Amino acid sequence: MVAAVITWPDHTTDRPPVTLTATGGIDRASHHRLDEAWLGAAWSHPTTRCFVVSGGQVLIEDTGDGGAELVTMPSFDAPLTEAHRYFLGIDEDGVRYFALQKDALPGRMDDAARPAGLREAGTLLSERDAQLMVHAVALENWQRMHRFCSRCGERTVIAAAGHIRRCPACGGEHYPRTDPAVIMLVTDPEGRALLGRQVHWPKGRFSTLAGFVEPGESIEQAVVREAGEEAGVTIGRVEYVASQPWPFPSSLMLGFVAHATSTEIRVDGEEIEEARWFSREELRAAFASGEVLPPSGISIAARLIELWYGQPLPGPL
Ligand SMILES: [Zn+2]
Repeated sequence: MVAAVITWPDHTTDRPPVTLTATGGIDRASHHRLDEAWLGAAWSHPTTRCFVVSGGQVLIEDTGDGGAELVTMPSFDAPLTEAHRYFLGIDEDGVRYFALQKDALPGRMDDAARPAGLREAGTLLSERDAQLMVHAVALENWQRMHRFCSRCGERTVIAAAGHIRRCPACGGEHYPRTDPAVIMLVTDPEGRALLGRQVHWPKGRFSTLAGFVEPGESIEQAVVREAGEEAGVTIGRVEYVASQPWPFPSSLMLGFVAHATSTEIRVDGEEIEEARWFSREELRAAFASGEVLPPSGISIAARLIELWYGQPLPGPL
């Protein structure tokens, strides 16, 4: 039987259970965003660090221990031309961090630096660097998609150190958008888990069901609806587990365990082409034979499956 109270397995206690969800000691210090004098002084401070974000990528450098770090620079070295400046926060040592959004990453600062997106860097960076990057990438994605006023169509301008876009024509203020999406591990009374395959996924890849929350819908309703639409199963109890920022381009993944009250599967055939119930033993055997590929990457999906599975999933084969 599935435990009524959801707790992470012991092996997850010594690391953040979900990638991109640790603050890494960064205080976003949002009360400074409208204070131009403070921002100016913070930018000029000799310990301030900044990095360029462009097209969802930053420069990272391997640390030699299997991880990587953000390549940052002091503000007096910053390539400010044609850059939008985002204030990201202050770390535990009082260092202020800014991101510079530009059309391109700077040329190679040294041989070790290389461009990386969040899917790669998210698993390599420290909690602090991952938090800085996910904030910068999310802001950049929002800025890119919301250049014009949704009320009157005028081009908007950036304010609040990257956290507001103002419309000079109608005075409208636009704030960063986050789109809620539910992602759920569906279990049945026998303790099996329902995993599905999206049509465009590589052969053998199975994962949790997921979908966007619709207007006028609670997140619990969305879990029930999506499980019904994608796999034809009915859901009783729904338990929230954890969330994860997912700025691809602007989602917030809300992770659940959903308890099915029916087990007959009817996939929609459009989004999900196949769904199967797995016992832990069946999934273990399917991983071992290569019939099912273990989920990889930074998504909360792998953590939700791991929560049920009770042990770390095998690494990418
Ligand atoms: Zn407007």
